[in-house]
Amino acid sequence: MIQFDNVSKRYPNGFEALRHIDLTIEQGEFVAIIGLSGAGKSTLIRTINRMHDISGGTLAVDGINVMDLHGRSLRAFRRRIGMIFQSFNLITRTTVLKNVLTAFVPDLPWWRAVLGIFTRAEKTRALEALDKVGILDKAFVRADQLSGGQQQRVALARTLAQNPQIILADEPVASLDPVTAKQVMDDFLRINRELKITVLLNIHHVDLALQYATRVVGIRAGEIVYDGPAGQVDQAALDAIYQGKQEEPS
Ligand code: ADP
Repeated sequence: MIQFDNVSKRYPNGFEALRHIDLTIEQGEFVAIIGLSGAGKSTLIRTINRMHDISGGTLAVDGINVMDLHGRSLRAFRRRIGMIFQSFNLITRTTVLKNVLTAFVPDLPWWRAVLGIFTRAEKTRALEALDKVGILDKAFVRADQLSGGQQQRVALARTLAQNPQIILADEPVASLDPVTAKQVMDDFLRINRELKITVLLNIHHVDLALQYATRVVGIRAGEIVYDGPAGQVDQAALDAIYQGKQEEPS
């Protein structure tokens, strides 16, 4: 369970990107965060794994106050939380399989990491993760030979190999065409349903949020202005989130 209790986030320049955030997300939910550019969606997602520190309130994951974590405990905590970015963040000049195997690097003795030596069990887990996102046949292809959608699937497989309990995704389909975006959203949905992994993503496209998420959180100027079932997002909710104007597609 992810629990925000009156959380605020002020950046070093004084800008308050999150204000009075109260939000509880149960294990296994599929939540989409929507809002205008600059509303605070990415900041909210990134406070959960401490990519950004909060400045007020409390934020707990399974009862653990994330601000209490440091060093080794923070690294162990982050292993349970997968992170997916808009830009995939792959090592493009190596194979898909090697990209997925990097998920294990933080747990390896340094010499195995340096030499790139992985056990049969690790390779099997990596291949299983690729199978879960339907690109097992691409295991030995160089990552830069893949389409954007396939690259995002590699990133998903790398995250799955970590055996996460939560996947955070910061605009995961923003750089994909509409058809590929749907395919990647299908992967998130399958992972959420079959593996019961919590999925929390922010997304530009309201239609995709409503189609895939079970719950939608709308943010405007750092505050939650809507939180409810995706099926109940109506025009009044969209007006509250977007103040009556739809965001320009980027
Ligand atoms: P969104 O994901 O909804 O587009 P962000 O969370 O990226 O919004 O940003 C929220 C607000 O915080 C924006 O106004 C942005 O300019 C500001 N912001 C983001 N990162 C920083 C930073 N490192 N320093 C100062 N302000 C920032």
